[in-house]
Amino acid sequence: MIDKVTNYNIYFDVCAVLFDLVFLILVVTRKKVKGRRDRVFMYMVLTIMIAAMMEVGTSLIRNGDWIMSNYWRTIINVLAHFFQNSVSFLVYMYVLQIFGVLRHLSFKRKVFISIPEMALMIFLLVPQLRRLIFYYDEAGIYQRGPVNKWFYYWVILVYTIAGICALMKYRNRISKQDFMAISHFVIAMILSIFAEGFFPGMHLRITIFLQSLCFFGAYICLENDEEAIDNETGLLSRYSLWNDLGLMYESEYSSYLISVNVNNYEYYLQTIGSKRMNILLKNVSQWLAKLSSDKVSVYHPKSGTFALVLYDFDRDNALKFADKIRGRFIDEWIVEGASVFFQPLVKMTGVPEQICQDDQLYAFIENGSIEGMIMNSVNFIDEVSTGQRRLQIEMALDRAIKNDTLQVYYQPIYDVATGRIRSCEALVRMYDEELGMVSPEEFIKVAEKTGQVNFVGEIVFEKVCQFLKEYTPQKYGMDYVEVNLSTVECMNPLVPSTIRDLMNKYGVDKSQISLEITESAVIHNKETMANVMDNMQRAGLSFALDDFGTGNANFSYVLDYNFDIIKIDKTFLWAADGSEENAAILEAMLQLIKGLKRKAVVEGVETEKQRDYLVSKGVEFLQGYYYSKPLPEREFIDFIRRYN
Ligand code: C2E
Ligand code: CA
Ligand code: CA
Repeated sequence: MIDKVTNYNIYFDVCAVLFDLVFLILVVTRKKVKGRRDRVFMYMVLTIMIAAMMEVGTSLIRNGDWIMSNYWRTIINVLAHFFQNSVSFLVYMYVLQIFGVLRHLSFKRKVFISIPEMALMIFLLVPQLRRLIFYYDEAGIYQRGPVNKWFYYWVILVYTIAGICALMKYRNRISKQDFMAISHFVIAMILSIFAEGFFPGMHLRITIFLQSLCFFGAYICLENDEEAIDNETGLLSRYSLWNDLGLMYESEYSSYLISVNVNNYEYYLQTIGSKRMNILLKNVSQWLAKLSSDKVSVYHPKSGTFALVLYDFDRDNALKFADKIRGRFIDEWIVEGASVFFQPLVKMTGVPEQICQDDQLYAFIENGSIEGMIMNSVNFIDEVSTGQRRLQIEMALDRAIKNDTLQVYYQPIYDVATGRIRSCEALVRMYDEELGMVSPEEFIKVAEKTGQVNFVGEIVFEKVCQFLKEYTPQKYGMDYVEVNLSTVECMNPLVPSTIRDLMNKYGVDKSQISLEITESAVIHNKETMANVMDNMQRAGLSFALDDFGTGNANFSYVLDYNFDIIKIDKTFLWAADGSEENAAILEAMLQLIKGLKRKAVVEGVETEKQRDYLVSKGVEFLQGYYYSKPLPEREFIDFIRRYN
């Protein structure tokens, strides 16, 4: 079937197809962040490209170059109509998205906005209605139907006017670039109404090409990637956060802003090194990026701080969301076999209820530290992280470190073979004016999360060296002191050299110190641990495995390390006291240690009965209140002098 032979010029359309193809590749390969505007933009370019292709098709058919059945001819015409007329709809959606309105639209509103688009579809799909758009006359020639103009002009006009209205309404809320971009769209739409009329009788079909050019103009005007996306993480930038929140200050919808501040970020950077820190940052960002959606945007406004905006959430759901994030952040992060614990400060605030100005936003993001939380009085902080006690401990520890008030106590370890005290364990003590005595069990955990444990470890180690130099306990039969190394210290690549330097400084021999490493550190950071231990063992230091049996691990890991001594946690001894089954477990552990040709220490020996029992089982070393509680230096020296 042939339409009347006209001379439609297809070259502009061919150019448009090629141009849009390149354009599309550009849009698709551009750095993207989920939940961002790119998707609608991509649909727009794709739509306009298909529209151009279809127009080439209809031109060829109407020029008589392509001869095809009515069936195919109709399909191509339908597609051409559909795609050409959808462009204005998508542009309008895109404009709404730039204004930050799209995600707030209720379903009803969305349907309302889509009425012209849906009408178009119905008209094209129902044959009786389609005739009103186009039909073939008796001679089989394509003719425009009475509503054709409606879809061509009026729909474009309606969306364009709606777009201009939105532009006027939100003019102050958007950036200059966005304003320029939207202006390009308006020009594109107006061009599409009139372009063909500019060259009457020439059948130029230049509209789509001009539209493509305008879209491209819009594209280059749009905020450039450098600014919108944070290079380090691929998340949205600080600039985007300010921009996006700016749109919400006068919004009638309530949204929430969550910030996650990793207090000791700088500290970790120093301990695990920048290479690992980069990997860690990537992992964290990836985890956060997965949370983003049409309703959630994720930002990296400054180093150590992440922010999430939850659009249209109710308070409870937002709180749940914040809690989920906090839960993940306090959990461990593993980088190349090393585990890192952050101490995140998670805050939440309502926008625009509580934050409706840039300077409030600034205060919220910048004051991530403790002072930030006291700003409750300014009424925009909703504290999610409780941990009041933890903060108190953190501050008490800070004072103790600054004022050098940490103390080291020594608990004797009894050597069964000689009946003497030949070693002891160094245990840190903290007394705080406000909190009183704080158990190391409690504050070491906090210190591990804040990174303070590295300072604590160094202080303890130095005090032990001082003690060895000053009191020379070897004179009273003491061979070595066991010093606890925390999990976090074990990952710190600087620790071996610090230890070496301190020993040199005080003239302490390597045989005078043994390091206790907990089972959990050994299981979780296999590779790092192996490295650290290797390093120090080569320097002559020996190791004891602490808290043996508490990590629910398969014991085979012990074989991978060179522990001279294995310490069985006190809970096993205490449990064995009450039940035969538990006694069997303890004995099996002792057997295992013997089988591995290592020496056993059992902690928590409090009674004579326990002592006799353990001696009868051939345990080499005993530690516990039965012999002595941990004692300050002087008293400890007095104790061993008497005992030995
Ligand atoms: P740990 O390494 O298992 O140390 C043994 C703990 O058991 C000590 O508690 C000791 O006082 C206690 N203990 C020993 N014998 C008995 C007994 O017969 N009965 C009872 N009830 N307890 C006994 P402490 O000093 O409170 O230390 C608790 C934990 O804190 C330690 O467990 C260790 O994990 C950590 N810690 C202590 N000092 C340091 C340190 O300088 N550095 C590091 N990283 N951690 C330390
Ligand atoms: Ca220990
Ligand atoms: Ca223990």
